[in-house]
Amino acid sequence: MGELLEEQDLGHWRRTHYSSEISPSIGDNEVVVMGWVASVRDHGNIQFIILKDMHGELQITAKKGECSDSLFQMAKEVKEHSSIGVRGKVRPQEKAPNGAEIVPVELKAFSVAKKAAPFLVQGKTSPVGIDTRLDLRAVDLRRNYLGSIFRIRQTVLNSVREFLARQKFIEVNTPKMIATATEGGAALFPIFYYDREAYLAQSPQLYKEQLTMAFESVFEIGPIFRAEPSRTNRHLSEAISIDVERAFSDYNDVMALLERMIVNIVDTIKERNQDDLKYLELQLPAVSLPFPKYTYSDLIDKLQEAGERIQWGDDISPQVMKSLQDERLGGFYFIIDWPTSTKPFYVKPGAADNGRVCESFDLMFGSLEMSSGSTRINRKDQLVERMTKQGLKPAAFDYHLRVFDYGVPPHAGFGLGLERLMMALTKVENIRDATLYPRDIDRLAP
Ligand code: ATP
Ligand code: MG
Repeated sequence: MGELLEEQDLGHWRRTHYSSEISPSIGDNEVVVMGWVASVRDHGNIQFIILKDMHGELQITAKKGECSDSLFQMAKEVKEHSSIGVRGKVRPQEKAPNGAEIVPVELKAFSVAKKAAPFLVQGKTSPVGIDTRLDLRAVDLRRNYLGSIFRIRQTVLNSVREFLARQKFIEVNTPKMIATATEGGAALFPIFYYDREAYLAQSPQLYKEQLTMAFESVFEIGPIFRAEPSRTNRHLSEAISIDVERAFSDYNDVMALLERMIVNIVDTIKERNQDDLKYLELQLPAVSLPFPKYTYSDLIDKLQEAGERIQWGDDISPQVMKSLQDERLGGFYFIIDWPTSTKPFYVKPGAADNGRVCESFDLMFGSLEMSSGSTRINRKDQLVERMTKQGLKPAAFDYHLRVFDYGVPPHAGFGLGLERLMMALTKVENIRDATLYPRDIDRLAP
């Protein structure tokens, strides 16, 4: 066993065609295809190998007598997941993908699978638990289902970048190693920074606000780090945030921007991911402009009518939202005008009622929070006052506060969780499947 199937280097071999390009019209020319073995079927004198590459799959048909004995033997020995290349000819075959199969002339095993994977990667759902899959995530990601999810993710990212570029935003990257908490709070990961303690950034908030001074319209797509000790299906310790900040705007302006961005994302997926949507049998959420808006106060009234023991000033948890049997709260909608006390210090209190509510919003999808945003405070004295009220020490934020002596424009923005958005768009139930290598309280590897 295994003698013929010796592992070989790539050498001069190069792929001539992807699986999607294989068709009867190629005619008599030889092709070289490469990929991993999705399945093998042994029919005695015929071996079928289904080979997968980044664009799909194709069928290799090795028939005794039609190919050399040694090649036939190799085709018999090849195991699922092995990485191989095949040189051969294309022959029409109705039952094969793209209506053609490859008749092999030469087979190279680049890397032979040494053991069977602890789970199957065929099929949309997996009977093994998510932890088994995550332990061998790179193999798990060979699943068609996850392939579709991450191609849709790619479209989301491209469409966000294209959309914001059209609105003249520039993409920035802010430090992820920071000296003080963005908003205070205990959700920080401390790190060693030379001889000092530092933290992983929980948000680019203060930096993106500062950058409106020079660039006016900025966005960042990057990691946020949060120590979330509770185990939920919607929290990661490392998530990707789409952070947007715009000068000379208020929260109504950036809500309008955010909802148009979401509609653009949905339209772009419909256009670019037709095959994935078909495979997933996925109906994207219906979106029409403008998204419904409910004030925090109205929702509290509704919740109290529904018998929830919730007080004005409390946060609204997903569990509580689920108790509202209101179909208008099924898709995307905004909850606006939150109590000032529930939001971070940089959120601007409204003019009315002594600033009891602030110019803030959460974008929701059903009971799941997608994004938080607001008009920001752009004056130093107000910032210091709000910080002090929230028990933060202004001195710790000196590096931030000092720029407010030099004309920070009025500005507003939001942070949108990429994985949360993926959950809304693709109906992935566990946020861990919307990220390649999830980090949570129990998992720091792979
Ligand atoms: P939640 O109340 O759901 O924990 P949050 O209000 O603490 O979220 P924000 O600080 O408002 O979160 O962050 C902005 C967005 O970033 C959130 O609306 C969410 O989409 C995303 N986000 C925040 N924390 C996480 C996390 N731990 N895992 C995944 N996404 C997150
Ligand atoms: Mg929030």
